[in-house]
Amino acid sequence: MKNGFEALKITRQFLNALSDMGIETPTEIQEKAIVPAMSGQDILGIAQTGSGKTLAFLIPCVLKAKYAQGDHPRVLVLAPSKELVIQIFRELEKLIVYTDLRAGCIYGGVGKKAQVEQLQAGLDILVSTPGRFIDLYSYGHIFTRKINTLVLDEADRMMEMGFMPQLRQVLEIIPVKRQNLLFSATFPVRVEDLAAEFLEFPIRIESANFHEPVKELKQIWYPGENFKTKLNLLIYLLKDETWNRVIVFCRTKDAAERVSRYLERRNVGDVRVLHGNKAQNTRINALDAFKAGEIRVLVTTDVTSRGIDIDRVSHVVNFELPKVSEDYLHRIGRTARINREGIAVSMVNKAERYFLEDIETYIKRTIPEASFPQEVQKGDFIPGEQKEINLEIDSQKRRRDPNYQGAFHTRKSKTTKKKRSKK
Ligand code: AMP
Repeated sequence: MKNGFEALKITRQFLNALSDMGIETPTEIQEKAIVPAMSGQDILGIAQTGSGKTLAFLIPCVLKAKYAQGDHPRVLVLAPSKELVIQIFRELEKLIVYTDLRAGCIYGGVGKKAQVEQLQAGLDILVSTPGRFIDLYSYGHIFTRKINTLVLDEADRMMEMGFMPQLRQVLEIIPVKRQNLLFSATFPVRVEDLAAEFLEFPIRIESANFHEPVKELKQIWYPGENFKTKLNLLIYLLKDETWNRVIVFCRTKDAAERVSRYLERRNVGDVRVLHGNKAQNTRINALDAFKAGEIRVLVTTDVTSRGIDIDRVSHVVNFELPKVSEDYLHRIGRTARINREGIAVSMVNKAERYFLEDIETYIKRTIPEASFPQEVQKGDFIPGEQKEINLEIDSQKRRRDPNYQGAFHTRKSKTTKKKRSKK
């Protein structure tokens, strides 16, 4: 009896390529997506990074494209960031290694010359960000009439990043008669609208771990009342050698810079920082070096890291918890990728307790608290930090109870009153 990918009618050259990639058994989303996508149906896939979603859409695309044909792309894959485009492209290259299919990838932030040459050389499958696609099209470098399959990856992210106008433009310049595969980690109203706008009678499929972290993932949180205390705790945790490939998440670029600079001074091994202000090449190099195991600690923010596939991350540290619960899930999804174990550690100050509660509701489980290690020294609040935390607590309390006046604001209004009465 045939099982796994063979049962999904995947042809030999791709089976061999998958086997070279160490991939033997389809993941749930692949099981569900490949056959209907092969039959030509539109697909709406709700799946997170780590579910195997990339191959879930790439496999049907390559099976459909089969072999090199003509000069112009027949499959267009759109993804929101350069990093993600490159990642998809690399997976695609491995998948087509035993065929004569030609794949290309284009994205902004770098020169156009090499990309134009790639297009002129002829290709079957093109992976791109929406902006660069429109850009090169407008200069006449992309012939779009042959496109018969469109994939939108991370549609939720595209909506968040305001790519809707560009997507509409793309839809106007590619043939109406085509197959659409839309993948999204979450399914907010904006994605629902997008799906309604451009999918035709789609099959909706979800991967079961949607909203729930994978089982092999252990999650804990430490109280960390301020930035300096958290730094001390991080240094302490990094003494453990099993922390060999660590991603540290901060909320802002500034915090990420500060954390990485501090770590660099403390001899914890190679550290890099990755965020939106870094040049394109620096970002890709940092990611590559981290993937290759040359860097021990990668400090980053939510913006650049989402959707990025990094294997064998031993620990994810939420140095600062995200305000949006969904981002928590994306962050911890960097570890415990498909059947591997991983640990996610969060450092939580008094204001972040509120975010933690929201996250627990969202992921439908309680994250256990670890006791603060006695050996770790508590640090002082940096100027303004305490005030910022108090303000955040107020705003969280007000969010939960609109009638809540706020400790900080009450005091402020008292002084105003006093001033007034003096007059
Ligand atoms: P993705 O969710 O597409 O970002 O994939 C996450 C990681 O899982 C990538 O490194 C893939 O190569 C890997 N992967 C995808 N499908 C499978 C599979 N069926 N078995 C094992 N690993 C897989």
